[in-house]
Amino acid sequence: MNLCIHRGAKEIGGSCVELEADGQRLLLDLGLPLDAELDETPLPDVSGLEKLDESLLGIAISHAHLDHYGLAAKVRQRVPVLIGKGALRIINAARQFFPDAPDFLRTIEIKNKEPIVLGPFTITPYLMDHSAYDAYAFLVEAKGKKVFYSGDFRNHGRKRILFERLIQNPPEDVDVLLMEGSTLGRTGLENEYPSEDELEARFIDHFNSAKGLALVWTSGQNIDRLVSIYKACRQTGKKFIVDLYTAGILKAIKNPHLPQPGFKGFLVFVPMSQRILIKERELFDIPQSVSFCRVYPKELPDLARSSVMLFRPSMAKDLERAGCLDGASLIYSLWPGYLKDDRYQWFRDWLEKHQIPLTHCHTSGHAPVADLKGLAEAISAKRLVPIHSFEPNAYKKLFENVEIRNDGETWAA
Ligand SMILES: [Zn+2]
Repeated sequence: MNLCIHRGAKEIGGSCVELEADGQRLLLDLGLPLDAELDETPLPDVSGLEKLDESLLGIAISHAHLDHYGLAAKVRQRVPVLIGKGALRIINAARQFFPDAPDFLRTIEIKNKEPIVLGPFTITPYLMDHSAYDAYAFLVEAKGKKVFYSGDFRNHGRKRILFERLIQNPPEDVDVLLMEGSTLGRTGLENEYPSEDELEARFIDHFNSAKGLALVWTSGQNIDRLVSIYKACRQTGKKFIVDLYTAGILKAIKNPHLPQPGFKGFLVFVPMSQRILIKERELFDIPQSVSFCRVYPKELPDLARSSVMLFRPSMAKDLERAGCLDGASLIYSLWPGYLKDDRYQWFRDWLEKHQIPLTHCHTSGHAPVADLKGLAEAISAKRLVPIHSFEPNAYKKLFENVEIRNDGETWAA
């Protein structure tokens, strides 16, 4: 079996790995590079993406983060896309708001530990704990060789048990481990990240002491985080107000355990930007489906003290106009780097103008060094090849049997 990392050998973003056996091929992820525009980014040089080539048997998508699937929107061929049901539902729901999201022509549903045979490849998905819902690692076997691709993972989210199970019962005799290292270089080696349970406790403290509307800025697709916030709301007697997009994602997943319209204290607010979009695209059935739990701007001042609201800066004007910001506070629950960006200077000024105090409350979607070591040691592959990291050289100091590869280079497993 031959491998080629088309992108991601030395960077985070644009992950794409091609495997070849008996002249047949399989792709692992087809991501958009970080900060890249879809229109301006070409597909990697893989036969079968632009023009028909039946030797490309499939594209296995590890999870629904753009840096792992974004470029798939450009594929015009009917190459089967292997993807989890939950991840596919999120992408399809998000496409109503973001038309750039791919509309896969053919899909094969993957399930935890259920092998799929495609030509010479046997692909076994491993459900992983990550900030994306329904995220997988892949064990790929072909020609007597085994490659384990970690995807993105961590061991401090709501599904951390999955990591423990993998460590206790890892695949055996793996030749190549392609392991992500997003956190390398970002933080100190001894760093630990708070768990989602710890965040939930911090949310509870914050909501208890909030004097007005408690705003939380996080991703509408970080399902673990939304669960933490909702649980904290339930424990503090607060209502949880989410925007229409987030409500749509939670509903679309069809997991009865996730907070969604119809759950106690779960309300939906439709900010102006989404009202315009609904009108432009004639998506009237989306607000219709949540009309029973919808809140309107004029209701917000009365609800403020007893509510937590999922927030993003594009909603600043809506809240200002609604007059619900007396005593408001903001929890920033995303990677700290985004907020420091120049494009949010206006927003930092806006917070100051309204005297809205800012608290950080976040944990990484990725494993710190200790857990990367845990996985590397459990799998103990003959070779460990860095991927999805800006610090491939740091692997050599931390792990055994490291072999650094370049983008575009073909090598044997
Ligand atoms: Zn990810």
